Amino acid sequence: MTDKSKRFPLPLSSVVDKKSSNGRATRSVATPQTATRNAALENSRPITPSKTTAGASASSHFEPAAKAVERSSMISDAVRKAMVDRIAMLGVRDAKVLAAMAAVPRHLFVEPALASQAYIDAALPIGHHQTISQPFIVAHMIALLRDNQQGGVLNRVLEIGTGCGYQAAVLSLLAKEVYSIERIKALHELAKNNLRPLRIANIRLQYGDGMLGLPQVAPFDGIILAAAGLEVPQALLDQMTIGGRLVAPVGSHHQVLQLIQRVGEFDWTSTTLEDCRFVPLRAGTA
Ligand code: SAH
Repeated sequence: MTDKSKRFPLPLSSVVDKKSSNGRATRSVATPQTATRNAALENSRPITPSKTTAGASASSHFEPAAKAVERSSMISDAVRKAMVDRIAMLGVRDAKVLAAMAAVPRHLFVEPALASQAYIDAALPIGHHQTISQPFIVAHMIALLRDNQQGGVLNRVLEIGTGCGYQAAVLSLLAKEVYSIERIKALHELAKNNLRPLRIANIRLQYGDGMLGLPQVAPFDGIILAAAGLEVPQALLDQMTIGGRLVAPVGSHHQVLQLIQRVGEFDWTSTTLEDCRFVPLRAGTA
């Protein structure tokens, strides 16, 4: 078991807090510079409450710790809320998407050393030269998928490029079934470890080349690419439902976000949206 997988059944606070010699959690003196960081570090509220947190409150011996967890998750909820407010300000209006962004603990998807930056609206490294996407772009792409003829209902969604699993977790709150493919084995495993403690029943992770899609479970009414190719692979276009939507960054040095809608068996329409910056879509596995 890796350090990371050991970490996840525990409240984040029990990992990031430094223990003093008497075993109690200590906190460095808060300054304006560290306040946001501490708030982000202290939160430990997964989508589903963990057994560890519930167990802690059952014993009076742990009561102070349980109260500290409760208080700190309120602080962290506020930090995440600020991130969501910024996403709304940048133009995402879909209340369900904003609620999903507010519910997923992004700090659990980055290395503990980066947890203080988890609620900044920026992409962050996740190893293997890949990144967790910027929160705004995650919300924006999902909102584009939901802006469909079905009033936002998404039955089966495919994500290409699981990375650390963050966007899949957000999607799981907005789609009935989420399939996500990652081509780098170590990241596929990382995503599994990150998602396991959140006990999300409707995500299926797949190790493989996402450029091929998942013909065995297609068609999808939503497809999101989290990596930029020179064009959208035909296999993915073929795996869309009629009426389905696909959002993808396209390009190399200069990339644009593309929204593709399937309007008939052999007909797709494409809309070019704003410039964007993603890691490259690569063929094969690693
Ligand atoms: N979805 C992530 C973003 C991950 S970055 C998030 O929640 O933030 C994009 C990922 O796409 C990288 O992990 C990269 O390895 C992966 N990727 C690139 N080409 C791919 C392909 N052909 N199939 C599957 N994954 C791919």
